[in-house]
Amino acid sequence: MNLKEIDLEYVLHTYARNYINFKRGENATLFDEEGKDYIDFTSGIGVVSVGHGNKRVSEAICNQAKNIIHISNLYLIEPQAKLAKKLVELSGYDMRLFFANSGAEANEGAIKIARKYGEVDGEVKRYKIITLKHSFHGRTITALKATGQEAMHTYFGPFPDGFVYADDIDSIESLLDDHTVAVMIELIQGEGGVEPLDKAKVQKLAKSLKKKDILLIVDEVQTGIYRTGELLASNLYEIEPDIITLAKGLGGGIPIGAIMTRLKDIFKPGDHGSTFGGNYLSCSAANTVLDILEDEKDRGVLDERMVYFEDRINEMAKKYSNIFQKSVGLGFMRGLRAKSGEILSKIIEESFKERVLVLKAGRNTIRFLPPLTISKEEIDEGIKRFEKAILKVSDQI
Ligand SMILES: *Cc1c(COP(=O)(O)O)cnc(C)c1O
Repeated sequence: MNLKEIDLEYVLHTYARNYINFKRGENATLFDEEGKDYIDFTSGIGVVSVGHGNKRVSEAICNQAKNIIHISNLYLIEPQAKLAKKLVELSGYDMRLFFANSGAEANEGAIKIARKYGEVDGEVKRYKIITLKHSFHGRTITALKATGQEAMHTYFGPFPDGFVYADDIDSIESLLDDHTVAVMIELIQGEGGVEPLDKAKVQKLAKSLKKKDILLIVDEVQTGIYRTGELLASNLYEIEPDIITLAKGLGGGIPIGAIMTRLKDIFKPGDHGSTFGGNYLSCSAANTVLDILEDEKDRGVLDERMVYFEDRINEMAKKYSNIFQKSVGLGFMRGLRAKSGEILSKIIEESFKERVLVLKAGRNTIRFLPPLTISKEEIDEGIKRFEKAILKVSDQI
């Protein structure tokens, strides 16, 4: 059996997998078995934030692995405490953290915090959580139910109660009642189509929720860790959420999730936990990722690259208005809304043939989540290849 056959025989068919075998990675460039290069505008779906084969991150991981990888949360974990301090200081929020292993798990924890808050605060028990229709919050049963896309709820029931879906941010207020304990949103819907929420509307909602003692949970699993130019999209939107969840880009590829909350004493020992969460290895990786990105942000190179990338994407939208409706997104989380789902599939296919990796989001959005350390040369090369793909698709429609 070749590798593809082995994979098909022994691994569940959960993904529409592309059977390319990447052997090596260098920042935003991947190399296949024949040594052919691919420009990576996906960074493993927003995960490899400081690029493939990052020397500082791999060194931090190796050094930590040779020493202690894991001891459990029953003992002090030096890199975990330091990571929590760093995230609080960089965010500017007066919060404490809990560490998990993924986005879905961080969101589960956030929902538990909200549910406990609704139980102990006030006279009636509050448990309802409002989320948005095109949201994505993860794949565990509860995170899936929190996800407002009904198509994802076809199987797997019965689900936990208490999730209510708002069509859009404008209709959230009308859904609040005496049993509502929280509103959970992504500031830029990632899977839903790279659609940023309107800043003024988010600020208005945040203010109103605070007045009503309803918690605001911001799912920053995709938007967090400098993806939009600030440590958190919440910083960019100038709001103060009660709970923020993180994962994807935080560990540079090592699995880690985190919950930040201003409800510093909500959990007592025994309320929540994780065996692996916040161990030496993942926290060492995350500390190094933050050191790298904080430095790039301070030196202005992160913003420079983001603007450069945004300009190139906007050029594509303008030049090929026969294919694209518009350019969407913020920072290094960008999308080109195609005129149809069919065009979208063709562009993704042709892009791959031209050796540039891009993602799909929603029904008809091409999504770009490059490593935050991508070089101008890589951006230029990737856009050049992407444009070739567009021209091929233009000929077909
Ligand atoms: C990817 C994602 C998740 C799920 O994260 P996992 O690590 O796959 O569990 C949750 N919320 C958002 C906004 C995401 O983009």
